[in-house]
Amino acid sequence: MMKNKTTLSEIIANPSCMDDYDPNAMSVAQARLFIKQFLSPVREAETLPIRESLGRVLAEDIVSPSNVPNHNNSAMDGFAFKFSANLKTLKIIGTAFAGQPFMGNLNAGECVKIMTGAVIPAGADTVVMQERIAIKSDRITLLEETKQGANVRLAGEDLRIGQTVLTKGHLMKPADLGLVASLGIAEIPVYRKLKVAFFSTGDELVGVENPLQEGQIYDSNRYTLYGMLTRLGAQISDLGNVPDDPAQLEATLLQAAQNNDVVITSGGVSVGEADYMKALLAKHGQVLFWKMNMKPGRPLAYGKIASAHYFGLPGNPVATMVTFYQFVREALLMLQGASPKPLPMLMVECTEPIKKATGRTEYQRGVLYDDAGVWKVKPTGNQGSGILSSMSAANCFIVLDEAAGNHAAGELVKIQVLEGMI
Ligand code: AMP
Ligand code: MG
Repeated sequence: MMKNKTTLSEIIANPSCMDDYDPNAMSVAQARLFIKQFLSPVREAETLPIRESLGRVLAEDIVSPSNVPNHNNSAMDGFAFKFSANLKTLKIIGTAFAGQPFMGNLNAGECVKIMTGAVIPAGADTVVMQERIAIKSDRITLLEETKQGANVRLAGEDLRIGQTVLTKGHLMKPADLGLVASLGIAEIPVYRKLKVAFFSTGDELVGVENPLQEGQIYDSNRYTLYGMLTRLGAQISDLGNVPDDPAQLEATLLQAAQNNDVVITSGGVSVGEADYMKALLAKHGQVLFWKMNMKPGRPLAYGKIASAHYFGLPGNPVATMVTFYQFVREALLMLQGASPKPLPMLMVECTEPIKKATGRTEYQRGVLYDDAGVWKVKPTGNQGSGILSSMSAANCFIVLDEAAGNHAAGELVKIQVLEGMI
């Protein structure tokens, strides 16, 4: 395994200082582990009102200042009383509403009409549902045996006072906003947003506001990157598309690295003639170029430019997205202070044959669909790394291991779902 303290410059100068490091056949898992050791999360935190913390990472543990619920309360509309064996009839002596407790004390043989959420009155320990009694003037008769403690929610059964409710590093979801509110906490400390700058490289690229000339294509990567980075909650700077011109690339790169935590580029990291990025990155940073053992997404670069992390993604639009999801997503979450868990990998039947050559991990685009109540998957069609419509059509990646070859229809495959519930 790689040493912990190896620096990027040491690896660049002497790649063999790491046993299993082969820049010409980096596996996805290896690259992830490799990148991980250089990620030190942002430290600056800010305190935000609950709502604004959505999608942000907690900078401190949240400890419950009280029991939730605060009092024993009724889980049902019914009647509260003190349990005793063989009890049949009870006298109604009052009513308890949610937010308006019954203030008296219950003696044996007495009950209080109680609404869901109302505090259990002193002396009572059990609630009978209103459907399980008969009522006649100020008396109720229990129609069936009720267990002691029935229909009572106990104080602290959701959260106990002093309990750590959410831990530092937690990514705030809708449920967490409510959870924090249920504790009466109005503001919470979260890490600051990550500053991420990105630009596209290529002489052939044109922005959507311009007409296309012969041989040109529209720059789509800046839009997919915008979408993925926005969903990750990054503070983004879109630096445009830059032609394969060393001076312009250099100026943009330096500008990007100056004020940002992360710089992402697309295109220009392969060994094509116009790929100037390599020389530039060697001049201004410590950057490693890998031939990934994956498809799509063969060329990939990772390193540092000044204090910014750098990710050089391949230019093919599907490859840009796949490498983002497989490497950049997790890295950005970690830089934001989160401790992301691996994405769920599910096994489902693939109902169509899959073409695959052995030797590389493939991330084919798939459609997970409901086949009469059973979820199955099929590939989206053309799997070329320039076919961006395959990403649009897909709702999952079909992940095919390095050693795997063709699959017949009906075989089980691993999938990674692209969309989560919000
Ligand atoms: P490169 O990685 O620069 O060799 O580019 C690989 C392929 O992706 C080429 O066909 C490029 O034209 C295409 N490409 C590169 N950048 C973009 C972009 N921003 N939007 C759409 N296609 C791109
Ligand atoms: Mg290019």
